[in-house]
Amino acid sequence: MTIGILGGGQLGRMLAVSAAELGLSCHIFCPDKQSPAFAVAASRTVAAYNEESALAAFADSVSVVTFEFENIPAATARFLAERVPIYPSPRALEVSQDRLAEKNLMAELGIQVAPFAEVNALTEIYSAMARTGRPAVLKTRRLGYDGKGQTVIRPGDDPVNAWRTIGEQPAVLEAYVPFISEVSVILARGRDGTIRTYDVTENQHNAGILAQSSVPAAIPDEIASEAIAIGNKIATALDYVGVLAVEMFLLDEHARPRLLVNEIAPRVHNSGHWTQDGCHVSQFEQHIRAIAGWPLGDPARHSDVTMTNLIGEDIAAWADLAAEPGAAIHLYGKAEARAGRKMGHVNRISIRAR
Ligand code: AMP
Repeated sequence: MTIGILGGGQLGRMLAVSAAELGLSCHIFCPDKQSPAFAVAASRTVAAYNEESALAAFADSVSVVTFEFENIPAATARFLAERVPIYPSPRALEVSQDRLAEKNLMAELGIQVAPFAEVNALTEIYSAMARTGRPAVLKTRRLGYDGKGQTVIRPGDDPVNAWRTIGEQPAVLEAYVPFISEVSVILARGRDGTIRTYDVTENQHNAGILAQSSVPAAIPDEIASEAIAIGNKIATALDYVGVLAVEMFLLDEHARPRLLVNEIAPRVHNSGHWTQDGCHVSQFEQHIRAIAGWPLGDPARHSDVTMTNLIGEDIAAWADLAAEPGAAIHLYGKAEARAGRKMGHVNRISIRAR
């Protein structure tokens, strides 16, 4: 069986390594000649995502297709879906590409999100602010990631500047929530509807970019169960196949904890990298199993883990990290360490007391 992966970044690379460990090969489709995933895959196509002849040939060469980032054009996913199974489905991809569609789905499912309003023009920001209050976060509906495509509007700020900062495009305005922590649920749903969930992860962001994830999360058991139930509800509603990540804010309202969903990612996720060294079966292997129609593996956590991203020049410390007891280092093979670029991560492992 050959797995086709759209996107050639570090997530595609780690998926391909896991596929190889299961005896499967990967064909990576990515427009960028320098893609980190190419080095570990059996075959590659370097072509634009709208090049139909390349997509058709790619579809003919693989048994199943998946993607490693959610900004693949929906039309590409739909084109491929007519030729070969694609998981997660184009619908799951489309929902996660649009913050408004995502929030509307949460509303349909009775899942809470921060107060928000749609903004399609500068004039609409004022009525939106009446709903969210200030501070509020103005986020583009599409193509935002790692804190890009969003800006905070504080009391006294001129909304015109915020509108310009995000490039004057369709957006949502969200209340800035005073969270006590950020958590995420990583789960996998198989082709037969079986769901396996990893332990809830606690995340710290720096300038919108994930800096660190740790397990176990310092949250009450009931909140962890609620977070997992939310993840399962979303996966079931989307008839999802593969690994799904759900990022949430944990609020402490009058000494009562409350979870709000921030966003979903229809793919393996940075906040699940700890599973490589903390679990029997990692999120990468689990995703390959799910889309290939295999039985899902055991997601049980055998160790406590803190995952730290190596961003930009952090990579310079690689030799010390490689020598550190209890640390597992994962590098992405990127030639150049630009500011804000994810170069690798390190999982610091401590064995869980039984
Ligand atoms: P996002 O791209 O939506 O995942 O946002 C990136 C990060 O910005 C989040 O992980 C939070 O740390 C912060 N952030 C985003 N939206 C909000 C919000 N409504 N209130 C407070 N912080 C936020």
